[in-house]
Amino acid sequence: MLTVRDLTVRYGRSVAALHGVDLDVSDDGVLAVLGGNGAGKSTLLRTISGTLRMHRGTVAGGEVRYGSRRIDQLDPAAIVRLGVVGVPEGRQVFARMTVAENLRAGAIGAPASARAEGQRRVHELFPVLAERASQRAGLLSGGEQQMLAIGRALMSGPRLLLLDEPSLGLAPKIVERIGATIREIHAQGTAVVLVEQNAVMALAVADHAVVLEVGGVALAGTAAELSASEDVQRLYLGGH
Ligand code: ATP
Repeated sequence: MLTVRDLTVRYGRSVAALHGVDLDVSDDGVLAVLGGNGAGKSTLLRTISGTLRMHRGTVAGGEVRYGSRRIDQLDPAAIVRLGVVGVPEGRQVFARMTVAENLRAGAIGAPASARAEGQRRVHELFPVLAERASQRAGLLSGGEQQMLAIGRALMSGPRLLLLDEPSLGLAPKIVERIGATIREIHAQGTAVVLVEQNAVMALAVADHAVVLEVGGVALAGTAAELSASEDVQRLYLGGH
């Protein structure tokens, strides 16, 4: 279980990018985090994954716990070892490395048996990655690169996956495919935090959701409750 309590985060001396944020993700949950540009979604994921400091941000207050452990002061590698693994925005695959090398990079330090199991799982979820194993990652399509980025994160056998806008810039058919894959990953026992501007996809996949607005939680509830909310329909689902 991931718990975020009263979290406040700042970049330099600017206004808090997050303030007083509370949220919970159960071990078998998918939490969608919705919100417009600059609402603080990426900052939230960076804080959970421990990469915030790389972006010159600091946790100015509050805490993040995973199970009984406080993780908001741990470094990213220690957080990965606890089973919390992020896929940053923008599909940051190693373009000059092959697909197989990218996947292996996601399992550095894992025992050979775990690597083999990770690879089996990734190839089952994304058969195209098996077909393209020896191709350079930079030559894949946008959708395939997103699959590779998710696949690489799965190689370490995460218990909680943090996805930052996996649908960004992808065609609707591919977004549908990514959504179905997230469900499948969840069905296999991995919890997910899904940051998305594509609220239709996110609410179809998630069981709970929060809406961030200017760094605070404006709405929270089950995915069904948020889908039915007039505000969410008007602002995020294209309703009137
Ligand atoms: P987007 O969908 O555009 O990525 P977001 O909801 O993920 O937006 P964040 O990227 O978390 O929002 O940004 C929240 C606020 O923090 C914004 O006001 C942004 O300008 C600021 N911010 C984000 N990263 C930095 C940084 N490295 N340095 C300074 N300010 C930052």
